Amino acid sequence: MDNCWDTILLYACLPPEIVEKILCIPISNPASVRDKVIWQHTSNGKFSVKSAYNCLVTIQQTPSRKWRHIWNLSIPPKLKIFTWLFIQSRLLTNENRFRRHMTDNPNCSHCIDLYESMLHLFRDCRKAKEVWKDVGVPVTMQRTFNLDWEGWITANLYQNNCKHFGFNWSQLFVFICWFIWKWRNKFIFDNDFKGPHNASTTILQYLLEWNNANIKQSGDSTTRVEMIGWKKPNRGHFKLNVDGSKNDKGQIGAGGVIRNNEGVWCKGFMQHIGYGEVLQAEAWGLVTGLQIAVDMQIKHLDVESDSAILINLIQSKDIDLHPLGTLILNCRSLMNHFESCSIKHIHRERNMVADILAKHSLDNELGVCRMDTNPPFMNQVLMDDIDGLVRPRMVVTASVEQW
Ligand SMILES: [Zn+2]
Repeated sequence: MDNCWDTILLYACLPPEIVEKILCIPISNPASVRDKVIWQHTSNGKFSVKSAYNCLVTIQQTPSRKWRHIWNLSIPPKLKIFTWLFIQSRLLTNENRFRRHMTDNPNCSHCIDLYESMLHLFRDCRKAKEVWKDVGVPVTMQRTFNLDWEGWITANLYQNNCKHFGFNWSQLFVFICWFIWKWRNKFIFDNDFKGPHNASTTILQYLLEWNNANIKQSGDSTTRVEMIGWKKPNRGHFKLNVDGSKNDKGQIGAGGVIRNNEGVWCKGFMQHIGYGEVLQAEAWGLVTGLQIAVDMQIKHLDVESDSAILINLIQSKDIDLHPLGTLILNCRSLMNHFESCSIKHIHRERNMVADILAKHSLDNELGVCRMDTNPPFMNQVLMDDIDGLVRPRMVVTASVEQW
């Protein structure tokens, strides 16, 4: 070789950041200087015990990037301490207690024949799994749930791109682990503890409170987290929620539900429309939902959709030349059948039932499927709405002038 790095070979075997470090190292000319081992911690390159000791002490005192990242996470101080022990696997799981001769049983209290390792306690235990399932793991993070302990915590703690419910995933990840630990301890020390009720709401509410107390102001806008949920209509009114959906094949569908002032399902529908645009699906959903309400001879109807564009079209005067003009006019004429009919834009978090129905419509044959009773897969989310369950949403507002 002509006395330089084989860059192509290096890039083929090593990650680019390592290659870029290697390329910075000059190669000695073998004709003039032979390779030899040198000690980098003394000025003369010779090893000494003192320099080795100094070097070890310095390394231990230098907070690595790993630690800095943890200290910079927006989490309460007690969770920082927890995370510090967590990433070093130093929490007193039964396996760790067994190693330190603090117990003669290294097994999990829930899964009697399995060791309670860090990975078991926080991820693989059936109790932990219930929590992860309840909060939901973002799609991009799901594959990390097959990694080993190091790989799993590194992938989840040291990422900046993933958001879940509007929260930074690493931040939420720490909160979830902390609650798993807290509930595990409660289970062991408190005989009456029956496990967390509605784990995700407890965790998200706690995180939300923390974030609201630590609002970050940037420029002239403020980021805030709001908890929002579906609201029952007033007595004597019915509420129609509609939504449209489009899959990656380009197929579109719509879904909707009419509920009374107790939040009880009266009628619903799923409509597989064909190929098109999502706005088309939203408009179709509204037409079908309104038609069902007319057929039910409802007098007072409150309509909600999460499509601001659709609401805008319904309310705008000049739609004659709009490609969806016919559908919009159709909606307006149906709306005239009621004694009162309001239409409102809401966020997706308030429109979960219609959202799920619209997505499911694409599994059906083409056409409208009207439903007098709710399909079983809607039970939970309907109950959540009746119970007034709120879901977090990140809201950006202009900063308030101080007077
Ligand atoms: Zn277990």
